[in-house]
Amino acid sequence: MAPLFMTSAPMRPIHIIGGGLAGSEAAWQAANAGVPVILHEMRPSRTTAAHRTPHLAELVCSNSFRSDDSSTNAVGVLHREMRALGSLVLKSADAHQVPAGAALAVDRDGFSQAVEAAILSHPLIEVERGEIAGLPPEDWDSAIIATGPLTSPALAEAIGGLTGTSALAFFDAIAPIVHAASIDMDVAWMQSRYDKEGPAGSAGAYVNCPMSRDRYEAFIDALLAAEKTEFREFEGTPYFDGCLPIEVMAERGRETLRHGPMKPFGLTNAHEPKVKPYAIVQLRQDNALGTLFNIVGFQTKLKYGEQSRIFRMIPGLDKAEFARLGGMHRNTYLNSPRLLDARLRLKAERRLRFAGQITGCEGYVESAAVGLIAGRFAAAERLGLALEPPPATTAIGALLNHITGGHIESIDEGPRSFQPMNVNFGLFPPIAEPRFDEAGRRLPGAERGLARKRALSARAERDLSRWMEGDQAPFAAA
Ligand SMILES: Cc1cc2nc3c(=O)[nH]c(=O)nc-3n(C[C@H](O)[C@H](O)[C@H](O)COP(=O)(O)OP(=O)(O)OC[C@H]3O[C@@H](n4cnc5c(N)ncnc54)[C@H](O)[C@@H]3O)c2cc1C
Repeated sequence: MAPLFMTSAPMRPIHIIGGGLAGSEAAWQAANAGVPVILHEMRPSRTTAAHRTPHLAELVCSNSFRSDDSSTNAVGVLHREMRALGSLVLKSADAHQVPAGAALAVDRDGFSQAVEAAILSHPLIEVERGEIAGLPPEDWDSAIIATGPLTSPALAEAIGGLTGTSALAFFDAIAPIVHAASIDMDVAWMQSRYDKEGPAGSAGAYVNCPMSRDRYEAFIDALLAAEKTEFREFEGTPYFDGCLPIEVMAERGRETLRHGPMKPFGLTNAHEPKVKPYAIVQLRQDNALGTLFNIVGFQTKLKYGEQSRIFRMIPGLDKAEFARLGGMHRNTYLNSPRLLDARLRLKAERRLRFAGQITGCEGYVESAAVGLIAGRFAAAERLGLALEPPPATTAIGALLNHITGGHIESIDEGPRSFQPMNVNFGLFPPIAEPRFDEAGRRLPGAERGLARKRALSARAERDLSRWMEGDQAPFAAA
């Protein structure tokens, strides 16, 4: 019998494409806020070159979520925030921990089976297996694309058609990024080549590190002898001119780097104006805060340990602290600072939101964190609520800010200047380095760095709590 009274129409679902770390977390957050979700995962009918199982939230390589130290490590702060925000990924990781010292490592099968079981038993989540081989249909008025670094080619092509192919990369080519405070400015100096002014009006935009001939030769020897990482079979070798790893440039000739990214022309050493450097390494500001600088043209496949050792041979970088080391991988990701708004929506088509590694964050934890916030944004929108992005002083806010605007675009390198990033304290707005401990004792220099990290962590904790006290009603039970 037909009902006497019409009930209100059921709420339309949010469609989430990709049941990895980000998509699973986004689904959980949105459903816990009372919004129905359809989660589309192509495995097992179609798989990627790295996944091995049909399970949601599969860890494709290491089983580590990295440091769980929330007082002095940025990823530990992110763990703490995700736990506070009811993350399914962190809850499942905590439940399936294996011993790993200060790190949070998991039994990978137990972990992904736990995520999958929670998703499958949620009354508001439906999982549909099958590839979404093009843009989401027009009648999906809210969709989150969380298809990861190995997005299926058909969908990647469709996204590229929407964003312009130059705004979608298929490989990252990452140059190391250094914490600005760790550069020795008694050796390095600020200057742009030929004192050219950029659009920001500064003729001193680059940090320059001078090398004598002896230092250059030793550096080339070290590059040639260093251990490299191989590309995986499915990655191919994506070298194209203009983006060669530095060790490959060195292999092509001992002078190649000196005529490429290390050319010494148009620059005068501010500390020794009469001495002409044989080569110069340049670093360019990487984020709007000015706390991070990348080494220009130093994309590399050197092993991480080798990178720290060899790049510290550069005068001025002998005590460099790296926010991230270089790399080159198969990785589908957007030029997000240009394409996405502050709530992760595609500016050109706001029904589409992106989450996870495809937005330009990197790592399991970061991908899940961006999924978490994307799920909340989409749910709030569906419920007609305004949800402010978390403050940039929190780990999740700092990561979001990097993706949606914190990175500053390089005019000379085009869209590829935005490179994927793990969370790190360099993404947080700076804080004055504490000089005294709580008892008023003057801190020795070596302890100030740790004290600064503790202060950043304490500020993040306080600011996340304040944000959570705001208009978060539908998420209270998450
Ligand atoms: C080879 C490799 C090794 C890595 N090793 C590490 C590591 O050791 N530690 C680390 O922290 N990070 C590592 N990463 C990065 C890691 O993959 C990401 O950090 C994380 O998995 C990204 O989460 P995500 O949800 O964005 O993507 P994923 O976890 O990859 O999830 C994306 C999901 O989307 C599905 N999908 C893709 N296209 C479609 C489509 N068209 N329709 C439907 N479903 C689709 C995929 O099957 C997949 O399940 C590695 C990446 C690769 C490629």
